Amino acid sequence: MNVDGDQFVECGLGHRHWGKYGAAGLLLHHGDMVLLQQRSALSMGPGTWGLFGGACARDEPPVVTALREAAEESTVDVRTVRVRGVLREDHKGWHYDTVVADVESLPEVLPVSWESMDARWVPSGQVADMDLFDPFAHSWPKVRDAMRRPVLIVDTANVMGSRADGWWRDRHGAATRLRDQLDALDGLPLPPFDVAYPEIVMIVEGKAGGVGDSERVRVVSAPGEGDDTIVDTVREYAGEPEAEVFVVTADRELKRRSQEAGASILGPRWLLDQLSR
Ligand SMILES: [Zn+2]
Repeated sequence: MNVDGDQFVECGLGHRHWGKYGAAGLLLHHGDMVLLQQRSALSMGPGTWGLFGGACARDEPPVVTALREAAEESTVDVRTVRVRGVLREDHKGWHYDTVVADVESLPEVLPVSWESMDARWVPSGQVADMDLFDPFAHSWPKVRDAMRRPVLIVDTANVMGSRADGWWRDRHGAATRLRDQLDALDGLPLPPFDVAYPEIVMIVEGKAGGVGDSERVRVVSAPGEGDDTIVDTVREYAGEPEAEVFVVTADRELKRRSQEAGASILGPRWLLDQLSR
């Protein structure tokens, strides 16, 4: 597909780039294996290895660009990929977004457009040894460290207690409202990403119990003390490879226990600010 951004532009740093409205690429990985595209003889950097991707259309979100381009240029079934976050390189007036995503199994991927010579799964430790497309060679060290899977665990009682919305009259209703707001979030600034799409887990207790999962939010009802369930949930995720776990709470003791279990801590105010953006 030709998009309205398909042209060369000069960025504020004086480089020449493809993509009037910026460009985006898909860093797809399965565990340690990374999908690379060998660029065709007719493209910039002929024969070098980089990411499937291309120019953004006007107002097109980078995740959409990266998945669209990957689907146009290869046999990747983008319905099976899980997007974890976006890393942005800002070139003053132009930007390149690396969309980090993973797949549960390692599918065979073939190149299908004139833009690609080949496609290959490469162990991350061997990527730097390949003949890389210059911009990708430049971004790879940062991208490599971002092959992560963000998880956000919410201390629901603590977050609800941080806003005066009448939660004390109807804890179940307030927890449901919070769940729906979390479900509607379009990305969060969680390191190492500029925009992350975390798995979200709400821990509810007492009268807020019985709130069900939504499409994007897993709700866990604590059988007793919510703090114990939160720490158990941190352990459950932090034990998985690539997981980057964040706990939202202002509770001092819970912060300490969560950090010990492998999580980073964010405050309720931070989350409420994100919800009101
Ligand atoms: Zn530039």
